[in-house]
Amino acid sequence: MSRTRFDAIAESHKRNRINIEEKGRRSELFGQNVFNEERMLQYLTKEAHSSVKAAIFSGSKIDRKIADQVAEAMKTWAISMGATHYTHWFQPLTGATAEKHDAFFDLLPNGKGMEKFGGGQLVQQEPDASSFPSGGIRNTFEARGYTAWDPTSPAFIYGTTLCIPTIFVSYTGEALDNKAPLLRALHAVDEAATAVAKYFDKNVTKVNATLGWEQEYFLVDKALAHSRPDIIMTGRTLIGHSAAKGQQLDDHYFGVIPNRVIRFMSDLEQECTKLGIPVKTRHNEVAPNQFELAPVFEEANLAVDHNLLLMDVMEKVADKHSFKVLFHEKPFAGINGSGKHNNWSLATDTGVNLLSPGSTPMKNLQFLTFFVNTIKAVDTYEELLRSSIASASNDHRLGANEAPPAILSIFIGAQLSDVLDELEGVSQGKLSPQEKTELKLNVVGKIPEILLDNTDRNRTSPFAFTGNKFEMRGVGSKTNCAKPMTILNAIMAKQLIAFKKEVDILMDKKNLKKDEAVFNVLREYIKTSKRIRFDGDGYSTEWEKEAKRRKLSNNKNTPEALQVLTSKASLELFKSMDVMSEVEVKARQEVELEAYIFHIQIEGRVFNEIVNNHILPSSIAYQNKLIDNVTGLKEIFGAAHKKLSDGQLTIIEQIAEHIAEVKKKVDAMTDARKSANTITNIDKKARAYCDNVRPYFDEIRYHCDKLEQLVDNQIWPLTKYRELLFIK
Ligand code: ADP
Ligand code: MG
Repeated sequence: MSRTRFDAIAESHKRNRINIEEKGRRSELFGQNVFNEERMLQYLTKEAHSSVKAAIFSGSKIDRKIADQVAEAMKTWAISMGATHYTHWFQPLTGATAEKHDAFFDLLPNGKGMEKFGGGQLVQQEPDASSFPSGGIRNTFEARGYTAWDPTSPAFIYGTTLCIPTIFVSYTGEALDNKAPLLRALHAVDEAATAVAKYFDKNVTKVNATLGWEQEYFLVDKALAHSRPDIIMTGRTLIGHSAAKGQQLDDHYFGVIPNRVIRFMSDLEQECTKLGIPVKTRHNEVAPNQFELAPVFEEANLAVDHNLLLMDVMEKVADKHSFKVLFHEKPFAGINGSGKHNNWSLATDTGVNLLSPGSTPMKNLQFLTFFVNTIKAVDTYEELLRSSIASASNDHRLGANEAPPAILSIFIGAQLSDVLDELEGVSQGKLSPQEKTELKLNVVGKIPEILLDNTDRNRTSPFAFTGNKFEMRGVGSKTNCAKPMTILNAIMAKQLIAFKKEVDILMDKKNLKKDEAVFNVLREYIKTSKRIRFDGDGYSTEWEKEAKRRKLSNNKNTPEALQVLTSKASLELFKSMDVMSEVEVKARQEVELEAYIFHIQIEGRVFNEIVNNHILPSSIAYQNKLIDNVTGLKEIFGAAHKKLSDGQLTIIEQIAEHIAEVKKKVDAMTDARKSANTITNIDKKARAYCDNVRPYFDEIRYHCDKLEQLVDNQIWPLTKYRELLFIK
């Protein structure tokens, strides 16, 4: 009998309570470990401070002399905080973050030690990057990669290390990370949106994209998680019969947070607060052991960094509390998966949320302009936006258990639908004074500031307008938000540039007034982007049929979804917005496909191991016990034993049948993997893994789960769902 499961259960019951004290008011803790505005004012000269501010605001360069000053200031502050090392913190295409620590310590010629950190080390580093995925960029260009300081995201101290957010690029300038393209997309949307915002307010000089993510996750006791090789190797359970009780009673959602978990959360929140992550809400999610944490929204680049940092902090704090945190999008079958809703909007430097309805017709025309342009952008590039959330793990989540489907559509609610319907009827060209008044008073002027049905309705819409922002809900819990944010802001930039051009032409050539021109262009957008609007149930087969009629993409798996990245239209978009070159896009596609292949390959291997070394031996052991029992009964009762061993014989047979099936399927899956491995074309290989290998997983699982139900609980080696999912 395997003891691991039972030892783990016993250990999970003996957890000591860690007492977490609040170390002060959250507002006092906030940003304690960040080289923020307050620290800059304290440690930098006026000159250096304004140079960094200018770099943050307009992307201007920081010269070497100033960089030296900033480095000196950061070092002084960091050392005073107990830091011993510094690192360039970056986001390679693996999806996680990377860091290589260097000590501040250095040797002087006289053999004495000193603390050293100069502008050179702040601005640029050369990590040994040859093992990061680059999709062939480095091979193609035989260039090394380097990291370069991103002054728009402040340095912070994590543990005893000063972390400097950086981009990661090759020596020939290609981005090797997720941050560089994001910064370029944010720059593009800033320029495009500022130009359009100036129609309504000349004082606007900058527009920031804002992002508020909502991180969902599961917590499992550490010992229990470690008793499952599938959780440790793949982040999810590959097998496991559902617990008698799942989420059907809805008793976990927004329920009382378990004691052990609330301690973890308080600890986590305090760590985050010190790191300047403005965490705000925490609650139970729908599935047992599922939780959510959300911050106050921030400028998108900073929000992306904060989410990545959060995931790292979560893993460390969870470990301290003897938990394993699962970020996988679908760690358990049959119950909800985890997502990371991306709430997105655009904000001007004059303090206006461009997606917030206002109190005057002018403000509402501005709102409608950005609102309709978002709809138009998403309509044009729906397939590309879908591609940005594709991953092997998110494939399990999309379209199942309350997650949005793989078809992208926009929910805007009844009130705004009515407004758009009205605008669709606006006359071509010049508007009569009556029409203008009518529009101002009864259409644009009637948009309520609070939209009643937009906050919590239609939870499965993949792209919902929720009152003053759009909420992108297909994003997976593990995903780096930089990916969807790069695409969303790039398509928005492209759309706004096109819009401005059309409006300007109507004003210059057709002599239309500004608002007339705006109405004219919006009318056409509303007409031509109707297919993307859908307020109904995203699950129904009717919607799937309807979406097909509307020619919306429905890419259900990652290899299919990634195709569009290199379409002519996508490449043109990336190039014209200066977000990615063709080489960079192709590299990303290759890296994503490769990651997909590795994921499925690893899962396949773990299946082999679990079935051959755990499931089959324990099933056979139990079967032997039954056989012994039947043989014994025969010895005692002779011919009369048949009647007495009826039940046992049935179970022996059932076990034999499932063993035969599971063995057959695992062998067939292994063959499919071997054959997929011979394919050299990466796209074809990913499809082979998707179409020929992956389908076996559910079949294997089915028989394993049947065996779990048949085999003696004392013999079953793998920790069960009911044990994993209910923290006490
Ligand atoms: P809740 O869903 O808890 O009622 P909200 O819908 O207001 O709260 O917010 C959900 C998330 O959206 C939070 O992370 C919040 O900071 C974020 N959010 C709110 N306004 C914006 C905005 N203008 N831009 C980006 N994110 C926003
Ligand atoms: Mg929300």
